Amino acid sequence: MFEAFFRPRQVAVIGASSQPGKVGYDVLYNLVRRGYGGQVFPVNPNADTILDTPVVKQIGQLPPGLDLAVVAVKAKLVPQAVRELAAIGTQAVVVVSAGFKEVGGRGRELENELKQVVRDSPGLRLIGPNCIGVMDTTSNLNASFAGTMPRPGRLGFFSQSGAMGLAILDWSLDNNIGFSKFISLGNKVDVTEVEILELMAADPETKVILGYLEAVEDGRRFMRVAREVTRVKPVVLVKSGVTSAGARAASSHTGALAGADAAYDAAFRQCGVLRVHTMRQLFGLATALAHQSLPSGPGLAILTNSGGPGIICADAAEGHGLHLAVLRPEVADELRGFLPAIASVYNPVDITGGAPAELYRRSLEVIQDDPGVNATVVIMTPTATLKAEDVARELTQASISNKPVFTVMMGSHSVHQGRDLCMRHGLPTYEFPEDAVAALAGMLDYQRWRTQKPREPELVSGDKNKVAAIIAAARRQGRRNLGETEARECFAAYGVPVARSLPAATSEEAVAAARELGLPVVMKIDSPAISHKSDVGGVMVGLASQGAVAEAFHEMTSRIRRVQPDAWVRGVLVQEMVRGGRETIVGLSRDPQFGPLLMFGLGGIYVEVLKDVSFRVAPIARVEAEEMIRGIRSFALLRGVRGESPADLAALAGVLVAISSLAHDFPDIAEADINPLLVLPRGQGAVAVDARIALTPAKGE
Ligand code: ADP
Ligand code: MG
Repeated sequence: MFEAFFRPRQVAVIGASSQPGKVGYDVLYNLVRRGYGGQVFPVNPNADTILDTPVVKQIGQLPPGLDLAVVAVKAKLVPQAVRELAAIGTQAVVVVSAGFKEVGGRGRELENELKQVVRDSPGLRLIGPNCIGVMDTTSNLNASFAGTMPRPGRLGFFSQSGAMGLAILDWSLDNNIGFSKFISLGNKVDVTEVEILELMAADPETKVILGYLEAVEDGRRFMRVAREVTRVKPVVLVKSGVTSAGARAASSHTGALAGADAAYDAAFRQCGVLRVHTMRQLFGLATALAHQSLPSGPGLAILTNSGGPGIICADAAEGHGLHLAVLRPEVADELRGFLPAIASVYNPVDITGGAPAELYRRSLEVIQDDPGVNATVVIMTPTATLKAEDVARELTQASISNKPVFTVMMGSHSVHQGRDLCMRHGLPTYEFPEDAVAALAGMLDYQRWRTQKPREPELVSGDKNKVAAIIAAARRQGRRNLGETEARECFAAYGVPVARSLPAATSEEAVAAARELGLPVVMKIDSPAISHKSDVGGVMVGLASQGAVAEAFHEMTSRIRRVQPDAWVRGVLVQEMVRGGRETIVGLSRDPQFGPLLMFGLGGIYVEVLKDVSFRVAPIARVEAEEMIRGIRSFALLRGVRGESPADLAALAGVLVAISSLAHDFPDIAEADINPLLVLPRGQGAVAVDARIALTPAKGE
């Protein structure tokens, strides 16, 4: 498949045109005039030669077993053309014609028809439709209607959006960015980002894979493949656009917080894909990865000729979790030996505005030798006497180790040549210090991914029969919400410690329950119609005497009767009171692309306000559970502040793994919340005091 698309021996253009400006002309032009060395067959029933190339009248007359065909005929003729191509054993097809799913109506039908043709043709793979085409700078293949050919380079780029692809191509020419492959995916009826990842992973010319994606087709498959590919080479993606995830019913806390993007963020992270949010970040990181070796640690040195940019750089570094290396005294001494007296020889090293270009090189050589330095950002601000191209020349001649170096040339007009020189020597260069730091941070993330042990999900074996019976009972009654007691039993079946609770229908039963559980107790309204109990005064904590329990029963049931007269109230739940726990939330929702999505955060009634939560696609490994816990902003509260004892983080991780396993075993569970899970001090465990489970719609619902 790789050879047929990118190193074809022959290419046919179906719908080749002799009229400049038509797609069928541009594609042919790119194939015959841009250095591609293989055979080209224009196909057109009404012409003899186009662009000095003899025309073939019908697809049936093309050589059997054709490598590649580019289809540029009207949308309604495409399915038939592909059928005929399949009949002669064509291996690879790129459909550049538009007028499919993207126009709706009849276009959608045509796309389905095309999909079926591909499905019926096992030997044929298809890119598109509605794409620009593919380019390969090694074989000088330009099977597209783009107006230019990219520069050769080490980046393999794919784009779901054609317009974005064209803009990037144009921009890359002015910015010294080179590509090994340039692939426009279009509507993805057959080949998706997953095959492209596999192709580029195996391509020796591609060092970094980058892409612009609007959605992945099959989230689980994407994760499986990406996890392997990122072991071999870095993958950097911009993912834009909202998914249908945003529209899903969100009745639980987790559903409300998961939003459209959380699953992509989590999934990319879990398979080592570096996610960036702007095209600038994409190329900033990709050029660094393509030309520099990975940093082996977070120690950053800054070399500058002006204070302000150095400080901005240092601040940005801190924001990314990098730290400024403390230079060794010998290093500072050596710098002092040749820098101006007013220079700063501590990190950031400021060689001052009057310093000549040569001092950049000498300083960089010395700084890079410091064992605490893992990477250097070199910032230059042009002055009356200092030219960017001179600094660039000195830097490219520096004899330095393979620690990464990033250059920042402040300004625009006067530094153009300097930047150009840096880029041509594989020295990544940035407009602003924070761009350089962002690229370094991305490299460090990738370095950590590459060196960490592959993670295997941990699955605990719960009491499956018990959970299955509870779900079946609810299904029989046509219910999608489990009762709080049922939900608690499901969690308990997977080893989650739950607060002991007893139902009570009268105040006498409530008092008896409290006696059995031991005072003080908590009382909660027990009604399938009420899901947020404290909103309606349905939770009373700290009931310390039998009298208080009896009184609470009357108060609570009459209050509920008042505020929600229609709600069917079974009675109350009397629950053991858990003291000294920190409130957290553990939740589960289903993402349409990636499946079970696990959430963790500080819980209680403020969770929707603070939105301090982290996500992973389940099933997870225990280290991933630990990372989820450490990943929230207010993690310090769990570790303990001001002499507080730390929370039982091991118990917490255990609960996350348990819910992950439950979600894995029961696809019927659409959403689940433990809010709160009260996490006790270290060694004392964690207890679920409120539980919710909602099932997926039953078949036919
Ligand atoms: P809901 O979320 O439906 O309002 P919860 O059962 O979560 O009801 O109770 C609300 C709050 O009451 C919890 O967030 C927690 O602060 C407190 N609470 C509930 N049950 C207990 C318990 N068993 N021990 C200690 N505090 C509890
Ligand atoms: Mg709750």
